[in-house]
Amino acid sequence: MTPKPDIRDLSLDELTRHMISAGEKPYRAVQVFEWIYQKGAWSFEAMRNLPGELRECLKKDFDLKPNTVVRKVVSEDKTTKFLLDLFDHEKVESVLIPTATRTTGCISTQAGCKFGCKFCASGLGGWKRNLTCAEILAQVLHVQEESLNHKRPLSNIVFMGTGEPLDNFDNLFKAIRTINSDKGIGIGARHITISTVGLVPKIKELAKQNLQIELAISLHGYDNESRNLLIPVNRKYPFDDLIAACREYFKATKRQITFEYILIKDVTCTEKAVQSLKKAFKGIICKMNLIPYNPVEEFGHKTPSGKEMTDFRDRLEECGIHATIRTPRGRDVGAACGQLRHASQLLAK
Ligand code: SF4
Repeated sequence: MTPKPDIRDLSLDELTRHMISAGEKPYRAVQVFEWIYQKGAWSFEAMRNLPGELRECLKKDFDLKPNTVVRKVVSEDKTTKFLLDLFDHEKVESVLIPTATRTTGCISTQAGCKFGCKFCASGLGGWKRNLTCAEILAQVLHVQEESLNHKRPLSNIVFMGTGEPLDNFDNLFKAIRTINSDKGIGIGARHITISTVGLVPKIKELAKQNLQIELAISLHGYDNESRNLLIPVNRKYPFDDLIAACREYFKATKRQITFEYILIKDVTCTEKAVQSLKKAFKGIICKMNLIPYNPVEEFGHKTPSGKEMTDFRDRLEECGIHATIRTPRGRDVGAACGQLRHASQLLAK
């Protein structure tokens, strides 16, 4: 038997077309969207203002998979990490990060990761598969539910969980359009950030999407050589090509780019790095998020001291590069940047 599609794999337009072809009024699609994305319905039975016959038809045609949360851990700083069980028992993690001014959901886009960056736990178990649009949206719905339980509506989404978002481009963008839609989750494009390890052709494609989303580049190196050490895909898309693609992106969108930069003692947190970054960023409007390295036992790196990190930030500022040091969140529960893992490792823990 062919598996039924998950209804969250459909855009509002697609669902509207489905309703029309089934002899229903188009507004029924909007009602279904509101039930799923705004009223927290996890079953067709829960959609009480739909006629029973229509609910039965939807049940026959579509799935609405629970993507059950099998583990939830709350860190001392109230960051909450969720482990979700997918239909084939692959598992992915999502994180809810509350701060004084915003409530952010950090969402995974792939089960595992094929890029194997040398500081990140997500790539250690290898890549299993892309997540579907429905599986991406289900994570957002789980973090939204949790944030509403705490009376803190979800304000931001960052695609910085497991996987490389731009390596799952079509499903990612379909999900983003529903997240962004006022009939869907209703989060403004400027509150949605895609983080990429630097897939140059996809950055060029991203520039052509007519969406005001934020782009963050996981740079983590200050020249070709240093980036090669930490980011294997840099051999395919070298540092200079990446910076050139960022220039093109900026020219096309006029959007400021964020560069994520991991601070590793004696590796990336050096004066040589400051000088190289100064040269590379000339003429690009950008900001740098400096991320203190979050320990992963399989890698031998060390986190620089507090003074080394503030000195590095101050040197960048002196060179005209706006930089802030990100406060690590959820480190105690392995929810911080680079600490999310693939299922096989999670279950072994
Ligand atoms: S940093 Fe991103 S691309 Fe690199 S291994 Fe981790 S999840 Fe994959």
